[in-house]
Amino acid sequence: MLSFDLHTHSSCSDGELSPEELAREAAERKVSVLALTDHDTSSGTERASAAARKLGVCLVPGIEFSTKWHHNGESFEIHIVGLEIDPRSRMLKAAEQAQRERRTSRILGMAEKLEALGFTGITDYFSGMIDQGGMPTRKHLGQYLESHGAGDYASCFNKYLVRGAPAYCQSSWMSVGEAVDVIHDAGGLAVFAHPLRYQRLTGRMVTALAREFKELGGDGIEVTSCGMGPSDSDRLAELSRSLELYGSMGSDFHDRGSEWRTLGKNLFMPSKAVPIWTAGKIADRISEFFGENNAS
Ligand code: AMP
Ligand code: MN
Ligand code: MN
Ligand code: MN
Repeated sequence: MLSFDLHTHSSCSDGELSPEELAREAAERKVSVLALTDHDTSSGTERASAAARKLGVCLVPGIEFSTKWHHNGESFEIHIVGLEIDPRSRMLKAAEQAQRERRTSRILGMAEKLEALGFTGITDYFSGMIDQGGMPTRKHLGQYLESHGAGDYASCFNKYLVRGAPAYCQSSWMSVGEAVDVIHDAGGLAVFAHPLRYQRLTGRMVTALAREFKELGGDGIEVTSCGMGPSDSDRLAELSRSLELYGSMGSDFHDRGSEWRTLGKNLFMPSKAVPIWTAGKIADRISEFFGENNAS
């Protein structure tokens, strides 16, 4: 039996492990099919793929786009995962560059606010990181604050970085529809990520968004992700079935320290959902990697 983890991060975005270390962690945790889905970049997929291959792990190249969803006059930040994308796609590269510019200007905007709050040097630190090609997220800001004596990571995040907090800046991400188009242009499948982890979305809004996502051409929805119980998965599997979206699952692994986001752990596919790894090019990749007989 193959085991799947189709949502993970490396140090190419805000994960702890390099793409090679991530591949090793997957092998150690007996994950057979691993997708690397860094925030707004596919830059680690080739390294992860080469390392994974040597360890007998099948690597699915992926990405996690931050997008904006407009609904009833409000906007919400929604994550859309692309699986089985071609990292060399021109349209994908252009989208990654545009997201990078949006992301870095937002992080520098937040750094500026933190600078005014007394964290001198933070702008230089993040400018340097960006100049070196790094991809800072709010997680890096939180870690910086923690390491500069502002309290532990979670309290720094809540005190300064959440929506409504003094250093928060809005971001201007691509739309959900744009993300779907870019992912399709790169040959991939678009997946609505961790539907129950958006604090401002009610159950009804999740359903409305899933429906709109399907209309925009979306292919799948995560029915199991970190911190979700069987009844949540069951509900999402029901939604995936009624909307004819494939079911996906992933830990959203970032680092070894996080107990409830362990690579490959607590992931299962409810029988109601049609697994996304049975679809098109992902299925082809898996059967080529493991041989026809193993691809179940
Ligand atoms: P960004 O994409 O720059 O908005 O950063 C989002 C990242 O920050 C997420 O991927 C998490 O790694 C981290 N994060 C988001 N919300 C929280 C939170 N409430 N507490 C701690 N970390 C968070
Ligand atoms: Mn993250
Ligand atoms: Mn996410
Ligand atoms: Mn993620």
